[in-house]
Formats: sequence, C-alpha cells, structure tokens
Amino acid sequence: MATPRVSFEFFPPKSLEGSFKLWETLGILAPLGPDFVSVTYGAGGTTRKLTHDAVTTIDANFGVPVAAHLTCVDATRDDTLEIAAQYAEAGITQIVALRGDPPKGSERFTPHPGGFTSSVELIEALAATGKFNIRVGAYPDMHPEAASMQACVDYLKRKLDAGATSALTQFFFEAEIFFRFRDACAAAGITAPILPGILPIENWPRARRFAAGCGAVIPTWLDDAYDTAIRDGREDLLSTAICTELCTDLIEGGVEHLHFYTLNRPELTRDVCAALGVTPDVALAEVA
Ligand code: FAD
Repeated sequence: MATPRVSFEFFPPKSLEGSFKLWETLGILAPLGPDFVSVTYGAGGTTRKLTHDAVTTIDANFGVPVAAHLTCVDATRDDTLEIAAQYAEAGITQIVALRGDPPKGSERFTPHPGGFTSSVELIEALAATGKFNIRVGAYPDMHPEAASMQACVDYLKRKLDAGATSALTQFFFEAEIFFRFRDACAAAGITAPILPGILPIENWPRARRFAAGCGAVIPTWLDDAYDTAIRDGREDLLSTAICTELCTDLIEGGVEHLHFYTLNRPELTRDVCAALGVTPDVALAEVA
C-alpha cells in the first residue's frame, strides 16, 4: 500500500495550558512531514486574533506550511480582506475559505451588513488579490443546509470555479461515503483534489455530537462497537483500529492525501499515521 501524504488541522488555543498542549502536539506531528497544517477560525469569528497568533507562531517555529481558516461571519468585507492582507504580509499564503457557522445561539448564517454573503463571494475576493492558495470545505454526507447531494456538489464546483484549488472534506465514518461523493464530483466535472477529512475519535460521545451537528451519518455498527469498547475500557484501541481501517480503505481506493482533524491531541493521529507508514524517519528520508 502506498504511503499517503498528510495534513493536520488544529484549533487556536485560548489559554496558556492550551498553548502548551498545541506546541506539544506540533512537536509530535510536525516531524511527520505534513504537506501543510491548518488553524481553524472560531465559530462566529470569535478567535480572529488567536487564529492569527497561532498561524504566525507555527509558521515561525515549526517549519511546516500553514493555512489560516477564514470565514465570512460577523465582519465586513473590508475587515475580512484586511485579515487576509495581514496574512499575506506575514508570508502566509494558504487560506481555507469558508462561509462559517453562525455564533452559538443562532440557527442560521446571517451575513454581516457589508460582509460577504457566501463562501463564493469570499473566494472570489481572495482570488482577485492573486496572493493566496485557497482551499474550501466539502461535505461527503451532504451539508445540513444543502437541498440535495447534487446541490452540494454543484456548490462545491462553484467554489472551485471561483478560484479555490482544492477541497478538504468534513469527516465521515465509511470510505464508501467518500467514494460516492468523489464520483459525484467527477461526474460534475470537478478535477481539483478533494482531500478526505479524518477524525480520529478521542471520545465517542463528543464525536457523536460533532457528527450530529455537521450532518455526518453515524452507522449503527459504530454505535454498537463503541458501546462495547467503552464498557470494556478499550475505546482508544477501537479508535486506532477503526481510523486505520478507514484510512487504509481510502488509500486502497486511490486516495493520496489524508487531512486529520487532530483536536490538538497528537496521540491517535500519530498512531494511525504510524500504522499507515507515516513516521518521522520516512519524512526525513524524503527530505534527504
Ligand atoms: P458552503 O459550501 O458555502 O455552504 C454549504 C452548503 O450550503 C453548500 O454545499 C450549499 O449546498 C449550501 N449553500 C450555502 N450557501 C448557498 C448559496 N448562496 N446558494 C445555494 N446553496 C448554498 N467553521 C468555522 O466557523 N471555522 C472554521 O475554521 C471552520 N473550518 C472548517 C474546515 C473544514 C475542512 C470544513 C469542512 C468545515 C469547517 N467549518 C468551519 C464549518 C463550516 O463553516 C460550516 O460547515 C458552514 O456551515 C459551511 O461553510 P462552507 O464554506 O463550507 O459552506
């Protein structure tokens, strides 16, 4: 089996303890030689400065390309483009451009007066600067707001046509879901890379809540497996096995790059990467 390329997503720390955890996580995962790492932008635009600080600190200290997430939420167009301009000035040229989720308490996305009204508008404006490599989100289980799977695929095509170069998917639990989506994208004429998002499950009740929130379908067998594993105190073992199997199925189906949602915890991602042959030694040999 081919060794995959990898990338890792982090969230910006909100406390000193959180900062130490993130630097420790990067200390473990950066040596695996990711193509890039990315830092999220808090729901409702709540981590604007924290995201900027984490992105620039990673860029200065860890020797990995870093992408900053940016959303349309709660900011004017000028403010959003100013954030992007500050990234460009700092030498950060990769952006994950998203419409964004509404702040806690709001059900639906409401554009800020004077703000971007959709991810497509944000992508067009970023692309017009000519300064960024733009990635976007994609939804193999269908975005909860999409009218249909075809609408979801068509909208992804609009985002790529607007100037994005690749897509990172929401997490999903079965390889088949990704392959079906990839086929639908190909049928719609999408040729840009679609990188599957992988969630190593640290905590099943929490992962279940995330899944329910973002529309990821939870297969019954997974619930049953975790019921037993949690009862027997073997949740980590099950998580490593399930995630490794999902990644293996994806690679055998032609996937070359896996994007891990680390939740700022390195252990499961490191163990799964090791099982797939992604180790510090391999990364070093590629550089040599
Ligand atoms: P879009 O692709 O713009 O919209 C999602 C779906 O809604 C579309 O597929 C389409 O079917 C429908 N839709 C939306 N607008 C229109 C329209 N104008 N016309 C027709 N259909 C429309 N959220 C954060 O707040 N911060 C983050 O850092 C963050 N990082 C993420 C990273 C990844 C890889 C992913 C997959 C998601 C991330 N999210 C983040 C969550 C994301 O903001 C939400 O899923 C949000 O609801 C959709 O954003 P989007 O840009 O992907 O959506």
